Amino acid sequence: MRFSGWITSHTYHSLSTSSCFLFVMSKYSPFNCFMMERKPEVERRLGRYLPMWELASEVSEEWQAMSNSEKMRYQRLCSQQGDKLDSYGVPLRLREEENQMKKQEARDMQHHIADIVNKYHSSGGLGLLPFYVISGSFYLRMDEGCYVPAEISLLKFSFKTGIIREFHAIVEPFLPVSYRWLAMKHSQATHNLLPKDGADGEKIKQVARSPTQVANRIKNFLSEDYDKCRPLYTLHSEVEQVQQMLHSMTGEDKLKVYSLDILFQHIHSVLIRKIPLHVSTGVITESLWEYHVGIACKWHIDNEQDSVRYCTMSCVKQWVFLMCRHIGMVPAFGVVPEEGKHYPVEEPVLSTVVNLPLLMQNLNMPDDISSGIISAIPTSSPVPQEATLGTCHHRR
Ligand SMILES: [Zn+2]
Repeated sequence: MRFSGWITSHTYHSLSTSSCFLFVMSKYSPFNCFMMERKPEVERRLGRYLPMWELASEVSEEWQAMSNSEKMRYQRLCSQQGDKLDSYGVPLRLREEENQMKKQEARDMQHHIADIVNKYHSSGGLGLLPFYVISGSFYLRMDEGCYVPAEISLLKFSFKTGIIREFHAIVEPFLPVSYRWLAMKHSQATHNLLPKDGADGEKIKQVARSPTQVANRIKNFLSEDYDKCRPLYTLHSEVEQVQQMLHSMTGEDKLKVYSLDILFQHIHSVLIRKIPLHVSTGVITESLWEYHVGIACKWHIDNEQDSVRYCTMSCVKQWVFLMCRHIGMVPAFGVVPEEGKHYPVEEPVLSTVVNLPLLMQNLNMPDDISSGIISAIPTSSPVPQEATLGTCHHRR
């Protein structure tokens, strides 16, 4: 059996007490049965709670060293009901039940969002209703949706107040050695959070926190005034990814992650007119501020400005700013949008490096004229900065 296969289902296991069957089913894989057996002893030895992906890494060598006959014991444990198993050792009957549960969850999400938007809109309180918007990037995605978290950003936001509070954290890279290359490839193509060398490693070490520390900080951020029945919202296409990372880090199976696209679709429907889901997605993922450096986290601004479009803080801010821009704060809620709360703080317009002699050469300017102009340029002029992309700003 492949290592990735075992890891896959393990992550969900930690939520085996969850009402969500998705998490219950995974404890039937042989590797999960083995992990569950080893979990109390490993946690006792390390003296702390272990998220499942960390536990998987802790016990994987032990599993690999086991003989086939020893592994058969766990195979029997997970298939004792005589069900047919899929390639991950999960009974097919449970897969089907998982699909049914996913469909039910999608219906619950639709109803919950429609109810809450209608209720607050009809009472005139939609403008002050706080939403929590979350984005999570990852170092590694293993088979079947197990993610190793990299960076998490959260905003508390309401249309009338704009951004109320912010949370940001970078998670220490905790990767099985055999997946390091894959993770590096993903990092370099996206967020660039995985250190490329020793110097990079030192920079990340100063800001990154262990998964447990990040989980505690998220709980603190949410504990201030957060009602656990209220969902967190993220991009429709990333709901499962964010929910899985959040659950595996915090162990909080009551935290729900819902679709921001569906939320905006309903808000748009009650305030302006009905729109299909893909139009809602198009609005909140518009690329208007994709390269706007000022909305990224401090680490990305200081170290990897070329990757700001993958910074999770940049993502959550863009989503809420684009919703405000599209809805229109004055006509919808009677508030004047504020810089930094409803739209990005403007970045300074930077000058571009110009090679003047080369430019004149290209323009076929006579030598005597061009040399006269060049000599008139003060030699002590400050070094110009390179131009940056994305200094486009929208104001209402
Ligand atoms: Zn960032």
